[in-house]
Amino acid sequence: MEKTDLRNLTFEETKELCISLGQAPFRAKQIYSSVFKVRSIDEITTLSKDLRAKLSETHYIGNLSCARKQVSKKDGTVKFLFELADGNFIESVFMKYKHGNTLCVSSQVGCVMGCTFCASTIGGKVRNLTAAEILEQIIAAEAETGQRISNIVMMGIGEPLDNFDNVVKFLKIVNHPDSLNIGYRHISLSTCGIVPKIYELAELNFPITLSVSLHAPFDEMRTEMMPVNKAYPLESLIRAMKDYVKKTNRRISIEYALIRDKNDSAACADKLASQFSGGLFHINLIPVNNVRETGYKKTDTTHVLAFQNRLIKRGLNATVRRELGSDIDAACGQLRKKTQNLQEDR
Ligand code: SAH
Repeated sequence: MEKTDLRNLTFEETKELCISLGQAPFRAKQIYSSVFKVRSIDEITTLSKDLRAKLSETHYIGNLSCARKQVSKKDGTVKFLFELADGNFIESVFMKYKHGNTLCVSSQVGCVMGCTFCASTIGGKVRNLTAAEILEQIIAAEAETGQRISNIVMMGIGEPLDNFDNVVKFLKIVNHPDSLNIGYRHISLSTCGIVPKIYELAELNFPITLSVSLHAPFDEMRTEMMPVNKAYPLESLIRAMKDYVKKTNRRISIEYALIRDKNDSAACADKLASQFSGGLFHINLIPVNNVRETGYKKTDTTHVLAFQNRLIKRGLNATVRRELGSDIDAACGQLRKKTQNLQEDR
């Protein structure tokens, strides 16, 4: 029988497990408040030896191993390459902000979405991560850095809404007061725009921050950069975003990576302003990170600022994202890809 990772259980499921083992429900709290702090069931010393042995017959505690760690000399950003139990690799990035330490976590091994500017999708998708594997990135990064992480961004490798059930489970687990106790308001989830899942997420009404990777305001341009736009064109995406804001009363953050001579024209800024004016939207402008395989180039700084000003003049809320970890390939999928390239080059 395949064993289950105890960290893959919600509090309710841990309670059910206790009952199925003939244990009093209060044991659930005992287990839950230890499981995220220890590395093995044997270390949960508040439980009897017998109970630990019984639990170990069907369950285990998973731990990621850190395969590589790169620390930015510029800003202290740390990029981790974690190895999963089955030998697959994922990345997480630790960033220091004024509002607290933030970890960018992966939600899948690889990605199937095919965005042309993104390194994570180059080898396709291998598999979804479990809720526990998403969570263990936080535990491992805290152990490696010796620092507490207070904010999570789901902007690493993978499309979180293409792994909806596990991601929702992860959100419930990480938020529980006896686990890592990270408030929903300290969690952002970024999607390339899987429209039906945006509606589903709105129904759940978690007060997290939703980010939408828009990157282009015209269908033809967006479809060329992001194949998902064929299935869910801009009109349907924008409708879903407006519905989300209305239902949850939460602001949506729009990600827009500026690529030189591609999506950085005045016409693009004007179209974007007309699509999102007067709503609870915030535009995050990101100078695109160069990825060896894509050939895209960054828009230069003066041009980025002109684009931003054009949006602001038309009443939009737009900021330019500070680049962290640019000396350590901290952008999406770059370290995993680089490791694969190295393996291929060998
Ligand atoms: N699949 C999700 C989350 C992962 S990507 C999504 O698409 O939103 C996290 C963010 O990094 C997305 O906004 C993505 O578009 C952006 N990104 C990917 N490659 C990039 C690059 N080379 N330069 C700048 N941003 C990039």
